[in-house]
Amino acid sequence: MKLNNIEKKINLICPICGNDQFSSLDVPMEELKDGLETNRVQCSDCRRIFTKEELLNENQERIDNEVEQITDDITKQLDKEIKKMLRKIK
Ligand SMILES: [Zn+2]
Repeated sequence: MKLNNIEKKINLICPICGNDQFSSLDVPMEELKDGLETNRVQCSDCRRIFTKEELLNENQERIDNEVEQITDDITKQLDKEIKKMLRKIK
């Protein structure tokens, strides 16, 4: 069974300019994911500085929508696969 689009990445975007490139100010970029909520990032475009927490809050609604969309996609695909399997059994 193959499910598409599940690994779609959800990028955080700058609430000011919509850019999705940030530099990490307090920890190396690769450690940011596991870092503190108060670690700061800077938008590479408008140079605005946010804490990780602020950025996540600003993006929360968008992330929720994306997750809902992905869940919907998966449900539809599973439904299709199951119907296919049932047809084979008959
Ligand atoms: Zn920006």
